[in-house]
Amino acid sequence: MPQNTQDYPFDPAQHHVWRPYTQMKTTPAGLPVASAEGVRIKLEDGRELIDGVSSWWTVCHGYRHPHIIDAVKAQLDEVPHVMLGGLTHAPAERLAARLAALTPGDLNHVFFCESGSVSVEIAMKIAMQSWINRGVSGRTQFLAFKGGYHGDTLATMSVCDPEEGMHALFAGGLQRQIIAELPVDDEATEALDTLMTKHGASLAGVVTEPLVQGAGGMRFHSPETLKRLRALCDKHGLPLILDEIMTGFGRLGTMFACEKAGVVPDIMTVSKALTGGTLPLAAAIASSRLFNDFWSDDAGAALMHGPTYMGNPAACAAANASLDLFETEPRLEQVAQIEDAFARLLPHARGVSGVVDVRWQGAIGVIEMRGLPDLDGLKACFVDSGVWVRPFGNIIYLMPPFIITADDLERLIRSTVDVTRSWAERHF
Ligand SMILES: *Cc1c(COP(=O)(O)O)cnc(C)c1O
Repeated sequence: MPQNTQDYPFDPAQHHVWRPYTQMKTTPAGLPVASAEGVRIKLEDGRELIDGVSSWWTVCHGYRHPHIIDAVKAQLDEVPHVMLGGLTHAPAERLAARLAALTPGDLNHVFFCESGSVSVEIAMKIAMQSWINRGVSGRTQFLAFKGGYHGDTLATMSVCDPEEGMHALFAGGLQRQIIAELPVDDEATEALDTLMTKHGASLAGVVTEPLVQGAGGMRFHSPETLKRLRALCDKHGLPLILDEIMTGFGRLGTMFACEKAGVVPDIMTVSKALTGGTLPLAAAIASSRLFNDFWSDDAGAALMHGPTYMGNPAACAAANASLDLFETEPRLEQVAQIEDAFARLLPHARGVSGVVDVRWQGAIGVIEMRGLPDLDGLKACFVDSGVWVRPFGNIIYLMPPFIITADDLERLIRSTVDVTRSWAERHF
C-alpha cells in the first residue's frame, strides 16, 4: 500500500471533493458556480446557463425566490436547528399539518428526515414494523418494479431496477426483493396478481413511483396502471408506498402525481422540491391506519427511527415558504404552459438520427436515444450553447424550474434539440 501521497497516480489535493456518479479519473472537473437567480446559473467565468434540470428536480420556484430566502433568514435568527426528540417547534408542526392537509386521503402523519433515500427507508420500515406490531411475522420483503428508482442507500438500492440499482455489482449485499413488471395491461396485471399470491406471506409492502419512473429512464405509465396496482394491494392486504420524491409538488401538473389516478397510497415519500431546492428535507407521510399500528401502551411498539437533523427548523421554514408560493403564485398553470411548449417544440427532435422516442408530461420533457456515446462531450456541447442539461443512460431530458419564462423555455428546448441534432449527426 502506498505510504506517501506522491505514490498515487493522482494529486489528492485536486480531488478532496469526491463527486456523484463520477469516474474521477476521466470526467472533467465540475463547473464552478458563482451564483444563481431565477432559472439562471452563473458560472465563475461569467457564463450564464439556463437551468433545464432544476438542480436534480428541486428548484421549482427558481433560485433564490425572495419569499423563501426571507423565511429562512428569519428562522436562522430564531433557531437554526433543534432536535425533534423531546422538543418541537412551530415550523415542523405547521409543515406537518399542511402536508397532511395537502396530501390525499388519510395521509396524516409526517415523519421527517434529510434525504429522499432515507424517507423511502423509513417508509419501508413503517410497513415492516406495522406487521410486527400486529403480531404477524415473516413479512420482510418488498415488491418493486423494473425501471424503478428509489435511492442510493443499501435498502433503497434493493428496490431499484436490478440493473440500474447495481444489484449485480452488490450481489449478496442487498436484501433480495421481488422485482416485477408494472401492471400496464390485463396480462401483466394477472401475472402480478399470481406473483403477489405466491410471495404473499413474505411481503411487507409494495413500492413504486407514481406515473413516471424517473432516474430509471423517465418512463411514463398510465393512471390506469396505478389504479390496478392499488386494487392488487387492496386485494392482497399490502400497504402501497408511493415514492413522490420526483413527482411531488407539481411536476406532473397536480400537486402529487397520485391525484391524477385518484389513488391514495398508504405511505407517500416526498423530498426534492419540498423546500423549493433550498435546504435538504424529506418526509415519509403515513396513513392513520398505519399510524394506528404503532399506537400502544407498549414503548417497544414505537417507530424505531430518528435522524439527527429531522425536521430541521430552517429547512421546514423553507418548505412552508415553498408551500405558500404554490398558494400565491400560479405554479400549476405554469406547469401546464411548460407542457404546451414541450408539445409544440419537442417533436422537432423526432427524425433526428439516433432518437428512438420523444415524450413529455407536465414539466418533464424526454428525448430517448439509441445510445449516448461520448456523454461528457454531449454535456459540454449543451454548456457551450448556454443551457444546463444533464443526460444520463440513453435519456436527454428537461425538467426546468416552473417559473421559466416562455422565451427562456423556447430557447432551452430549441437549444436542446439543436445540440442533440448536431451531436447525433457526428455519432449516428
Ligand atoms: C431522487 C430520488 C430519490 C432519492 O432521493 P435522495 O434525496 O437523492 O436520497 C428517491 N426516489 C426518487 C423517485 C427520486 O427521484
